[in-house]
Amino acid sequence: MSGPILPGATIGVLGSGQLGRMFAMAATRMGYRVHTLSPDEDTPTGQVAELEITASFDDLDAVRAFARNVDVVTFEFENVPAAAADMAGEHAPVRPSGHILHTTQQRAREKGFLADGGFPVTPFAHLRTARDLADAVVQVGMPAVLKTASFGYDGKGQQKVGSREEAAIVWAEMGGQEAVLERFIDFDRELSMIGARGATGWMVTYGLVENTHRDHILDTSVYPAAVPARVERTATEIVRRLLERLDVIGVLCVEFFLTRDGALLINELAPRPHNSGHLTIDACVTSQFEQQVRAVCGLPPGAADLLRPAAMANLLGDLWNHREPDWAAACLVPGVKLHLYGKSEPRRGRKMGHLTALAHHAPEALRVVTAARDAL
Ligand code: AMP
Repeated sequence: MSGPILPGATIGVLGSGQLGRMFAMAATRMGYRVHTLSPDEDTPTGQVAELEITASFDDLDAVRAFARNVDVVTFEFENVPAAAADMAGEHAPVRPSGHILHTTQQRAREKGFLADGGFPVTPFAHLRTARDLADAVVQVGMPAVLKTASFGYDGKGQQKVGSREEAAIVWAEMGGQEAVLERFIDFDRELSMIGARGATGWMVTYGLVENTHRDHILDTSVYPAAVPARVERTATEIVRRLLERLDVIGVLCVEFFLTRDGALLINELAPRPHNSGHLTIDACVTSQFEQQVRAVCGLPPGAADLLRPAAMANLLGDLWNHREPDWAAACLVPGVKLHLYGKSEPRRGRKMGHLTALAHHAPEALRVVTAARDAL
């Protein structure tokens, strides 16, 4: 490997949402320049970056020009087409590499990869044609969750089903496209863990975060999660094995279900910083975003130590409800930090920002952050 990409250099980000924005903030603080490319204008990332290119990911000439002007390319959006990642890779290192996108862009492929690697994964069956359904129902059992194979983001493209007949109807409504039938897990809790791996091979993991969802969208995260040391150790080992197996250079988030009998099952992988890791900005020595900067630029890792227990509450477009939320009211609460992503249109279910609260104990942080959100 060549030497580190040092501050002053330019990092290209494919995708332009809030993950790219917080990445760009971490990178610019360290003295890097950031360029971003996506089909949109005046984006969360573009508002912070030195240069915002508006072009389709399929516009390979634009991707080529973009990659030629940067020292390393990373992404904040995993549905970047493989051809764009390949084109970028001809002109600059792409970290993590495009093959990781290929594995994680499609549920059936991702689950197959996990099962083949001996990782604990929610029992599932791959549905390609209508003939697959009968066997899948027997294999997986009911109730189950039917999910389109190509990723629906934030719970889009998935529905709980209670019988084979219902599964057939829901699948037809999804247009009969390739899908995954997954056992419905009556989980005790949802957890996630973020890890990073550097260009020089180092690995860092954070602790387990406890998450709650509303309408399949992340609602709150609490850190550290109150779980037995054994669960924490098992998750850490899984994340480290995955970082190596996928040859990640960057950040990886693993989402888990903790079953009622104390077992961890992997729900999903995200080869990038994750919503459940946003609280690392305020709560840890090194945020998940700075860790990604260090990883892709070939720098040493930052300490992942927790400074103070924390909780995060997402701010969705629903909060606007015909008026601007009362930001001052949330800022009034001691220990609460406001993060907004610069999006002008508050649509239902759209992630507009988040609040983080720091406290002496994680449950207290959760109480404070939800009270602050209620005050909006
Ligand atoms: P996903 O987009 O697959 O991460 O799903 C979003 C959310 O839906 C998860 O975080 C869970 O809250 C719920 N969910 C998804 N799959 C399952 C499952 N197999 N069993 C129970 N809940 C699920």
